[in-house]
Amino acid sequence: MTRFQSPKGTQDILPPESARWVELVGRFADLARRSGYGLVMSPTFEDTDVFRRSSGDSSDVVTKEMYEFKDKGGREVALRPEGTASVVRAFVQHSPTPPFKAWYAAPMFRYEQPQAGRFRQHHQLGVEILGTNDAMADVEVIALLAGLYADLGLRSLRLRVNSLGDAKCAPGYREQLAAYLEARAEELCDEHRYKWSVNPLRVLDCKKAECRKVSDGAPRLRDWLCEDCRLHFAEVLGGLDRLSIAYEQDDFLVRGLDYYTRTTFEYGSDIIDGVGGGGRYDGLVAALGGPELSGVGFGAGIERVLLACDADGVLSPGELRLSPALEVFVVDATRSGVALELCAELRAAGLSVDRAFDGRSMKAQLKAADRSGAKVACIVGEEDLASGLVTVRVLRGEAHGQEKVARRAVAARVQEITRSP
Ligand SMILES: [Zn+2]
Ligand SMILES: [Zn+2]
Repeated sequence: MTRFQSPKGTQDILPPESARWVELVGRFADLARRSGYGLVMSPTFEDTDVFRRSSGDSSDVVTKEMYEFKDKGGREVALRPEGTASVVRAFVQHSPTPPFKAWYAAPMFRYEQPQAGRFRQHHQLGVEILGTNDAMADVEVIALLAGLYADLGLRSLRLRVNSLGDAKCAPGYREQLAAYLEARAEELCDEHRYKWSVNPLRVLDCKKAECRKVSDGAPRLRDWLCEDCRLHFAEVLGGLDRLSIAYEQDDFLVRGLDYYTRTTFEYGSDIIDGVGGGGRYDGLVAALGGPELSGVGFGAGIERVLLACDADGVLSPGELRLSPALEVFVVDATRSGVALELCAELRAAGLSVDRAFDGRSMKAQLKAADRSGAKVACIVGEEDLASGLVTVRVLRGEAHGQEKVARRAVAARVQEITRSP
């Protein structure tokens, strides 16, 4: 018989590792909610053109890495490679009142070579604010991401920011950059020697030493920004200063998608880059058939964030396993169905409760109770059953010992015990 494996570049997230996912997504959802963002769930696949029109022809994400196929009705569809395009498509389709503030936590698909923290199915946390040009919106989304990292206890991440200009000033810069690159095309890396002209900005983003060297002498976008873009960027930096969010300006931060305008930003450390980032995309709503409205947002790969947590020694599975521990284990060797009722009662009272199955012996169930990490065991033996009692035994903590408690008083007594230190 074939024993199937998860597809290449994907992974199963099982306990106890998955406890970190619950914790991370939970904290992010809470932060987003407290900042006025609502959850948007969009389809895992879209019309392929949603991504082609938004991410552009020169981004690897769309040209090389997209999972695209024809469905049984002959429609060209693609698995979502990134989160923003879907939210913008939904915004255009439903036209909610701007500013529209959305968050998501969703799988993304990229057909790339799997490596540490890079998967063919990865998962992103993200937010978008649609329908405002205000630089304070840029600051808000950056601050939200900074707040998440601070909440997790990440200390080694650094923020880089840049401005890519707008439709007014960016084309002029592109021409300058293209002229510069054309003269030095021979010195570029194998990929960019022939492809630099598709989008000259991609060269600035290239990690290869050859391209880096050429980029170092390239004209700087900051010298080409028009007055409006210069002011907008100054406001963004001013806002970050007011919130004491440290940053470095990085002229080469262009990001991998073609829709970015003005602000771009990214978090990373020496050990791990691309832990989260995003920027402004002022032409994207119109590119997907909507009005001339702008937007700004970020995406942060859950797998990357967890790698950063590992590097900083925070949010470890051990730490999480201990904190929301099981409170009660119900042991019932009478096969009377009391365990079923007790579990339901105690869970309804807000306690975390587990039990054994398969009618195992008292001894085996007590062993399971001990292994479960529960603080208290509620034990029902034949005698207890006849007299309407439950033996409440403290398994962990200072006050070891046990007592007989009347059935209807069990929930209250267990709550008392589990809530005392
Ligand atoms: Zn290159
Ligand atoms: Zn400009």
